[in-house]
Amino acid sequence: MSCLFCKIIEGKIPSTAVYQDDLGYAFADVNPKAPVHVLIVPREHIASLDEANKDHRALLGHLLWAAAEIARNKGLNKGYRIVVNTGEDGGQTVDHLHLHLLGGRQLTWPPG
Ligand code: AMP
Ligand code: ZN
Repeated sequence: MSCLFCKIIEGKIPSTAVYQDDLGYAFADVNPKAPVHVLIVPREHIASLDEANKDHRALLGHLLWAAAEIARNKGLNKGYRIVVNTGEDGGQTVDHLHLHLLGGRQLTWPPG
């Protein structure tokens, strides 16, 4: 498997772990776009949100819950943003489903 995030999950590429459980792994983004920038990924390789199927519904909910839990643990009481870039137009660059948790500053809208 040549997937970058699969290698990170397996520990073959180093990362700074933020949270982990049986379904997911969260780690610091190497190129942070905000004071808090964490990536939350499923342990299962799913290429993108578009590739997630009906059987993944509970997993998707779990990842969203984990993102909120991490935000609470990071003290992001003023708010934060969850982003799931999907496909070419969505700006996805790594083909393993991931949630971005961004916080710690005022975020602008709309995104570019
Ligand atoms: P996306 O553009 O939505 O596919 O997001 C991919 C994210 O992965 C970007 O924010 C990158 O900074 C991040 N990234 C790429 N390589 C690594 C790595 N080795 N460790 C942590 N984050 C990474
Ligand atoms: Zn993968």
